[in-house]
Order: sequence, then C-alpha cells, then structure tokens
Amino acid sequence: MKKQLRYALLAIITLLFLSFLAACNSSAQSETNGNSNQQPIIVQGPMPIEAEKFAKRLDNVKKETSGTFEFYIGTVDDYPVIVTKTGKGMENTAAATAIAIEKYDPAAIINQGTSGGHDPDLHVFDIVLGKRVTNIGSMKTAHKEDGEGMDPTDWIPMDLMASEGSAGEDPDAENIRYFEGDEDLLAAANAVKEKYTKGEVVEGTIGSADVWNNEVDRIQWFHEKYGTSVEEMEGAAGAQIAKAYDVPFLGIRVLSNNKVNDGEYNPNTAQANQEYVYEVVKEYISTIK
Ligand code: SAH
Repeated sequence: MKKQLRYALLAIITLLFLSFLAACNSSAQSETNGNSNQQPIIVQGPMPIEAEKFAKRLDNVKKETSGTFEFYIGTVDDYPVIVTKTGKGMENTAAATAIAIEKYDPAAIINQGTSGGHDPDLHVFDIVLGKRVTNIGSMKTAHKEDGEGMDPTDWIPMDLMASEGSAGEDPDAENIRYFEGDEDLLAAANAVKEKYTKGEVVEGTIGSADVWNNEVDRIQWFHEKYGTSVEEMEGAAGAQIAKAYDVPFLGIRVLSNNKVNDGEYNPNTAQANQEYVYEVVKEYISTIK
C-alpha cells in the first residue's frame, strides 16, 4: 500500500514538473513571437534602406534567412510582424513571398519601398497606396517581318494569368492584369494618412517590372494606357503570389524620384515610407486583434 502511494506521489510530481516546463516553454515562445495563434503580418522591403529601419522598430526580434532572403521576426504592440528584406526585382520578390507564405502563414502582406513617379501631380516624398498593382513588363510585341524594325509604342499588354494555354495565341491574354489592393489594408492605410507630414498620401496604380524607365514619353504612355501613378520593381510580383495563396496584399510606395516633373532621387524617402508603414501596421493590428 505504502509503495503504491509513493508511486502515485511520484507520478503527480512528475506531471506537475512537466506541465511547469511546458508553461515556461510557451511563455518564452510568446515573448519572441507574440501569441502563436496569431498569424503574422509580413512587411517587405527590397533594399537594406527599405527594410532595416522597420526591422529596428520591432520588439523581440530574431533573424532567419532562407537563400538570400532575410526575415526579421518580431512583434509590434505584442502582435507578430515579420520584416522581409527581399532583394530588388520581381523574381526575388515572388520567391520571398512564396517562402514567407509557406513558412509563416501570414494574415497579410505589405510590400513597400521607393518608386519613380509617372503622375506629374505627384512629388518626391508623396506616397501611393496601391489600390491596383500591375506588371508593366509583361507584353506582346506587334508582328513585324525581317527589316521592319521595332516599335515599343505598338506593344500590347500580356496577361499571363488569363488562361493556362498559350498567351502568344490567346486574344483573351491581350489585356492588362490588375491585382486589387486588399480593402482592409487600404482602410488601415487611409485611417492614418494624416500622420504622414512629409508629403501627400493618395490611392493609385503601381506598375512593376525589372525595368527602370527614363524615357519621359514612355513613362507618359504607361500613365495614359495603364493609369500608373508610379513604377517600381516588386509590387506586382508580390501581389501575384499573394493572390495565388489568397493572402491579403497591399503595395505602399513613396516617390524617391519623378522624371516627369524633375523630381531628383532622394534615398531618405525610404525611411519616411517605413515610418508611415509602421503606423499602418499598428492601425491594422488594432483592427484585427
Ligand atoms: N537608385 C538606386 C537604385 C535603385 S534600383 C540606387 O542607386 O541605390 C531599383 C529599386 O528602386 C527597386 O527596388 C525599385 O522598386 C525602386 N525604384 C525606385 N525608383 C524607381 C524607378 N524610377 N524605376 C524603377 N524602380 C524604381
């Protein structure tokens, strides 16, 4: 009998000790990652100057890397937020977005950074909220024979998402594909736009491609045909992958230059944008918490 009692006591003590260990472990986890039931918000920036300022404002940060992609995993207002340095361009952004979705199961993705103005009414330090994002490098050229030359003004948009068949043959693929910005993220961004004092915050269309356009006529052509407010090299790639997984997405881009109104490149815009996006993230967290 005594022996049985001793075993029972030992079992109870062991159980208590194990549950104590489990509690320690989960509180350590919530210190570094927020509540583990909460899906993180991903904030992407292509270049170090477009990601590291935000990363420095995270609490409880730890860094993970995957390939060349850097993920700063931390919290804002005790909610999990992951800042990603994606690297520049469409391919890096697409890959970094897919990896982030597979690894971290985010609630939402914000792609942010600098951009070049297409709209003459927008100036360096103004910010465009991507009501729409579109790939301005996805095109079909006109048919021309040997010696007939080339004319980019005859090129037409190509929508690679129109079907699984040949985009070259399919007339349905000759449209501009716009990815819509998520309404709740847009609402959060609009709700805090008065906090940004370095320029205007407007809704608009972000055009993306691995191209830096310096021909003013070409920039105006995009502005008229595609309705682009700004161009950059990432947004449409992130939006396309986010849509593939049905994850809410918004592009937020500050003008660091505007060729159509002589706006000189200013790298300080990258920091200003991150400060604004930080406010957007806090606002969005307050709505989903
Ligand atoms: N001028 C920068 C180079 C930036 S390279 C420097 O010397 O450091 C391109 C990056 O800037 C991309 O991530 C792109 O999203 C952004 N960008 C800013 N203005 C742009 C423009 N006018 N056209 C294309 N990308 C632009």
